[in-house]
Amino acid sequence: MTDPEPQRGAYWAQQSPIDINDSIYTKGLRPLRFDYADEVHGVFGDPGHDPGHSFDLLPGSVAHLEFADQRCPLLRIHLHAPSEHQIDGSSYPMELHLVHKISRPVWGSTAVVVAVFVQEHASASAPILQHFMKHRDSGPGSPVALDPNLCIPEDRGFFRYEGSLTTPAFAEQVSWVVLRTPLSALRPELEALRKRAGHPARPTQPLQRRFVLRSFADHPHRRATGE
Ligand SMILES: [Zn+2]
Repeated sequence: MTDPEPQRGAYWAQQSPIDINDSIYTKGLRPLRFDYADEVHGVFGDPGHDPGHSFDLLPGSVAHLEFADQRCPLLRIHLHAPSEHQIDGSSYPMELHLVHKISRPVWGSTAVVVAVFVQEHASASAPILQHFMKHRDSGPGSPVALDPNLCIPEDRGFFRYEGSLTTPAFAEQVSWVVLRTPLSALRPELEALRKRAGHPARPTQPLQRRFVLRSFADHPHRRATGE
């Protein structure tokens, strides 16, 4: 049994995902610092039960995000198709989630999730998706190695907001970092993963009493503040 969809009431005030259609440039946001080894070891979940192709890192892997003056270990990578977050009302074909644990919770958050969009491209292939495709049939539980740096585009401009898990029980304890620059992938790569990646994208949720911050100056939202 899964938890019912939360009511849009007073309690559920910080739900995810959201449509980012307005944001505030905030100079004080620290640049993202990923301290990821070139190779981490982990296991893929059973494709029959895990449509998000979750890759769970094994203990001992060196992969951290510096966030809120802490080193937050990377626990898991998984996919959503189509994207869960939207930018100015538009989705991407896929969204990758890098889930990090916040050991000393801040602002009620116990996890910081970095979301990376994937766009379709005629010629540019995404090596990280090739890793996912190569290993998806290796059988659940067989340890494999991949390079988590391949998940991170060169440009690290990002949006920041406080939100929730996007699967039951939708707990409001996630700090979200949504990268502005998508990875690019060929259509066959996207198709092959999407066939199994039925990890449903949760509909976008109301922003309510929240603001989205961004780390970069130039982003002409279609719906500007005050319109
Ligand atoms: Zn996710």
